[in-house]
Amino acid sequence: MGRRVLVLHTGGTIGMEPTQDGLRPMAGFGIVLHGHLGARSAVALPEWDIVELDSLIDSANLQPGHWRRIATALLERWDDYDGFVVLHGTDTMAWTASALSFMLRGTDKPVILTGAQIPLAEPRSDALENLETALLFAADPGIREVGLCFGRRLFRGNRSSKLKTSSFDAFGSPNYPPLAEVGIGVTLHRERLLVQRERDFVVPHFDPEAVAVLTVHPGLSARIVAAVVDDPAVRGLVLRSYGVGNVPDADPRLIEVLADAVARGVVVVNTSQCAVGGVAQGTYATGAVLTRIGVVPGGDMTLEAAFAKLHFLIARGDSPQAMGELLGRSLSGEVS
Ligand code: ASP
Repeated sequence: MGRRVLVLHTGGTIGMEPTQDGLRPMAGFGIVLHGHLGARSAVALPEWDIVELDSLIDSANLQPGHWRRIATALLERWDDYDGFVVLHGTDTMAWTASALSFMLRGTDKPVILTGAQIPLAEPRSDALENLETALLFAADPGIREVGLCFGRRLFRGNRSSKLKTSSFDAFGSPNYPPLAEVGIGVTLHRERLLVQRERDFVVPHFDPEAVAVLTVHPGLSARIVAAVVDDPAVRGLVLRSYGVGNVPDADPRLIEVLADAVARGVVVVNTSQCAVGGVAQGTYATGAVLTRIGVVPGGDMTLEAAFAKLHFLIARGDSPQAMGELLGRSLSGEVS
């Protein structure tokens, strides 16, 4: 028997239609998709079914709670399929891919996110190519991780970021090479795939306000930092520092606000604003200060991965100390 893939439609450009207010998700996208893909008899695709989330969204409206809904929808059907494709808007696809990689840690089946820059129903759409390629990867038993397939490449989901607004190759994976490249042939770099150990699925309830992101910039004041970290809802902060992890330590008040937050149990993880490379917190005095006050270096994690990981660990109920130990270590291949 052939391999069977479930397509879970969550929204996004791929299934949108034009309205007076711009593109919006279209109901009944599954029928349209069957019409298009049914005609592709020459392509050896796996068998597939499609289900939709209750309400389809433009992924700009994504909340951490959607991550749980997506994971739950997959797990409800886990035993019935050999692999999964998640159709998702591009705006937050890398965030969801990251979150799924932590919730579905040790997955024994491929989970491949994809979408499109132009809706399926419009001319010159990239939807079919992305979807067909994603279906092929979702049917490959050797892929045991959450991937993101877009613009002729497959990336590790938690290493990917949307890098371009209007190109068909919108995504990149600056700190990990693509898992596969697609031309006339498909080159899957099996040696780059995650070697999974055991299934460790945890689908927690996320508190949408638990994690904040703060980008360091010239003139950033202690008052602004305090406004973020002193908010009682905030239990984790992704700091986006300069270069290898530097912040303006010439402002002792700013450092004090961060130190107080860490002492209160707010987990602060340091990631770089640079897309390529990671943080090395001790290189400069402006970074070493963060180590002294208990800020956790986030290595070469993307913003999306650091954010989703912090959310996941908080939602799972880990202590700040446990989080401090896990944040810099690879759970699902997200950090070198
Ligand atoms: N705003 C859209 C979304 O993220 C963009 C896209 O899908 O390309 O849902």
